[in-house]
Amino acid sequence: MRLADILETQSLPIHAATVATPATQGLKVAKVAGVAAYCSKIEKAAEKACKGLSGHITQAVLLTKLSPDDVAELEACSDPLPFLRSFAIALVWATFRRDGIAPPGWDQAAHCDQCGPVLLWAQIEVAGCPWCWNRLHKVKIPRPKHYEINERSPSPTQGDAA
Ligand SMILES: [Zn+2]
Repeated sequence: MRLADILETQSLPIHAATVATPATQGLKVAKVAGVAAYCSKIEKAAEKACKGLSGHITQAVLLTKLSPDDVAELEACSDPLPFLRSFAIALVWATFRRDGIAPPGWDQAAHCDQCGPVLLWAQIEVAGCPWCWNRLHKVKIPRPKHYEINERSPSPTQGDAA
């Protein structure tokens, strides 16, 4: 999956990122002994992208998550940092969610038609949400403090595995 596709599905504020042109998609990534060789611009940006994320992700891990298409697009990008920063945050937040922890800023009481009351980044009503994965895999879903059960809410135990 391409970085841009992942960022779009993560509902992240990527407005600051610069999208590489489709013309760059045909570029090939240099391989050295089976390991992608990244240009120093991407390595430096990846290091900066991980700063302030409390050690939840490192430059090395971030670089391994890039597909060859991502690398080609980032090499052609004048400033890969906004992309890599958004991607690093998305990876950390995905880890939080898989652990049943609301990512920073996800403190608003929202309602998902599938999960019921959930914590999201805004007070919204949605047909599906990032916590749906947790519900389907019986992983804990953090709930708003004022969890009200009504006819719109699923069973209080649904997706609330301890
Ligand atoms: Zn949901």
